[in-house]
Amino acid sequence: EKADIGVTGLATMGRNLARNFAHHGYVVAVHNRTEERTRQLMDDHAGEGAFLPSGSVEEFVASLNRPRKAIIMVKAGAPTDAVIEELAAYMEPGDMIIDGGNANYEDTRRREAALKERGLHFVGTGISGGEEGALNGPSIMPGGAAEAYKTLGPLLEDIAAKVDGTPCCVHVGPDGAGHFVKMVHNGIEYSDMQLIAESYDLLRQALGLSPAELAEIFREWNRGELESYLIEITAEVLGHVDAATGRPFVDVVVDQAEQKGTGRWTVQSALDLGVPVTGIAEAVFSRALSGHPDQRAAARGLAGPDATAKPEAGVHADLVEDVRRALYASKIVAYAQGFDQMAEASKEYGWDIDLGAMATIWRGGCIIRARFLDRIRAAYDADRKLPTLLVDPTFASALSEAQDAWRRVVATAATIGVPTPGFSSALAYYDGLRRDRLPAALVQGLRDFFGAHTYRRVDREGSFHTDWSADRTEHSA
Ligand code: NDP
Repeated sequence: EKADIGVTGLATMGRNLARNFAHHGYVVAVHNRTEERTRQLMDDHAGEGAFLPSGSVEEFVASLNRPRKAIIMVKAGAPTDAVIEELAAYMEPGDMIIDGGNANYEDTRRREAALKERGLHFVGTGISGGEEGALNGPSIMPGGAAEAYKTLGPLLEDIAAKVDGTPCCVHVGPDGAGHFVKMVHNGIEYSDMQLIAESYDLLRQALGLSPAELAEIFREWNRGELESYLIEITAEVLGHVDAATGRPFVDVVVDQAEQKGTGRWTVQSALDLGVPVTGIAEAVFSRALSGHPDQRAAARGLAGPDATAKPEAGVHADLVEDVRRALYASKIVAYAQGFDQMAEASKEYGWDIDLGAMATIWRGGCIIRARFLDRIRAAYDADRKLPTLLVDPTFASALSEAQDAWRRVVATAATIGVPTPGFSSALAYYDGLRRDRLPAALVQGLRDFFGAHTYRRVDREGSFHTDWSADRTEHSA
């Protein structure tokens, strides 16, 4: 008997993904560079389904039914290239190599093109949900050729998370589209976490609430429109007490946020595409700021607001509800920006990404799963060509209801000296988009003054330059 699918790379993710396939009745070939991991999988889980272990890549490939489908779950980067080479050496035209690691989409584009020349399918696939998702149902974002998805798709849809019976897996688009979308998913995850962290910080600083009391607030928020996995686990983390010291867990953790790189990639790509993903960028930069202990120590003595500065009277009592609204409004902005980035990349690379479908497959299995995503899907269902999520009638009215609270929160934070870059930049983005005229007109004037970069006029077609250093007459450029 041969295997329906194979997994090579049996660390946390690969092992659980292999078990997930086995639980769904598939015969799963398993392989790992260091054979000990394969043995471990067989020792611990052989009884859960049909596994075919292999000690060598050659044996692993030979144990697969044609067209062969081999999933790579190894460290992203050079290890992935190495494993692709090993697999490809034993594969035949029509076979598929699926990369489920967190690859950069540019690498995926390169790999797909190279393997296509050898007659092999390469399917760069985003997988979200961590260890738990891999085992019980992740959100899966496969790229690669539509032809490959025809054979591979049903297997992936089987093991994916399901919401209302719909699998959290859809063919995203060709070559790097899947990994691109997974990257933006992670970027949005960064901004979601940043906004949650700002909410916690502001409420704690302004109202002197304890982490346990704040945990209760987040638990309450999770019953409303903010309902999501990240809000749910925020309540868990804030409520957790350190066993060793008896102090709130959040107070014994070093306050320097680390990153593996997908947030940074999202921002780098957004800069290239010219899409303002300010929410994600602020989240990445906030982590970077936290990671500079020397600068922070040196700056500790800098002047702040009068220690007696308090949120405005009257605002105080309602601050919890205001922050909830500001969080929701800022979250809408962050998602709108992430979806813009996918739309722009889709145009740039010819991927034809169905944005509503992306909201659908993020509803379950992944870290940013949330009730909110149903609203995004509905927005794109109603208008596939929506210029920005902000103008969808449901979101527009949510923003309209939240905006007063949002402004009070940003003002309060500035007054008492609590940094809320996520809230403030989201509000600035909202106000920027809304504006009838932007000061970009002045920027154009300055550019023309010092660099003769020209400008366009509101009343006539064409490009113009003013002769700033002479008599200031205007010429057609
Ligand atoms: P790791 O990223 O820790 O990678 C370990 C695995 O890579 C081991 O099986 C290791 O083999 C293998 N490996 C490393 N270098 C090579 C090489 N040169 N040749 C062959 N195999 C190699 O494992 P994870 O399970 O955490 O993640 C796997 C992938 O999934 C990564 O790309 C990760 O970014 C991605 N991912 C992870 C998530 C998570 O929550 N952890 C979520 C979503 C995606 P050996 O045992 O021989 O050392």
